[in-house]
Amino acid sequence: MPPARLGFLLLPASRRSFSRFAPLACRTTAASSPVLSFSATAPRASKNTPANSAPAKSSWSSAMSSDDVSKYLQQTHDSVFAKNKAWAAKKLGEDPSFFEKLAAGQEPEYLWIGCSDSRIPAEQITGLEPGQAFVHRNIANLVCNIDVNVMAVINYAVEHLHVKHIVVCGHYGCGGVKAAMTPKDLGLLNPWLRNIRDVYRLHEAELDAITDEAARYNRLVELNVVEQCRNVIKTAAVQKSYAGNGFPIVHGWVFDFHDGLLKDLNVDFKKILHEIQKIYNLTE
Ligand SMILES: [Zn+2]
Repeated sequence: MPPARLGFLLLPASRRSFSRFAPLACRTTAASSPVLSFSATAPRASKNTPANSAPAKSSWSSAMSSDDVSKYLQQTHDSVFAKNKAWAAKKLGEDPSFFEKLAAGQEPEYLWIGCSDSRIPAEQITGLEPGQAFVHRNIANLVCNIDVNVMAVINYAVEHLHVKHIVVCGHYGCGGVKAAMTPKDLGLLNPWLRNIRDVYRLHEAELDAITDEAARYNRLVELNVVEQCRNVIKTAAVQKSYAGNGFPIVHGWVFDFHDGLLKDLNVDFKKILHEIQKIYNLTE
């Protein structure tokens, strides 16, 4: 989740009680913006506009009249279909049997568990094509054992798709992680962000020793990824498949907006598996 979308939810610094987090929380609030303050471009709606023609641009403004808002919503809706047509035509042009192959089934090598943040599309940043990655995304790339959604995804990916790699990919500047560092009642987000707060508690000594708030925030992003990798490894599906097949293996990566590169946290899969099986062994 982009920090700006969460920022408007946050309390003024004067009402916060966790002094340890206050400097970062202050910065978050100061950098926040109203939820509709972003700018965007969209094509003008036209039924006669060819799918691959360059769309005319209009920009969102919070000062728009209700009629203009309606037009803008129609334009931004239609633009997706125009781009979809262009994409389908391009794929067919490159390979006339592209969709025939796609319809035949999937054998993805990767399960990608990433953040819902709109800036980190799994396939685009990795160059993977349709059919190559099974994708699950949620706020702050969490793997919570009572989240039926992510547990079903892992189970299906491992037991039925036989993925070889499971990637948990976080990102620096994660709004979910930042919100978790803010002592504020965020309603329905509370139980979700609790998972990240628990990661902080597990690594409290290390994190509290980092005086630079940005560095501490970055380190929590990394530790959260490692902890979610550990949660993936705790699942019976992963443990049983690895014991029987030698795969999947689990990776922790972090995306950096500054250079667009993925950082491999070099999660030691075998070491973590060995450690957690003292308590979480589910291979029998
Ligand atoms: Zn995020």
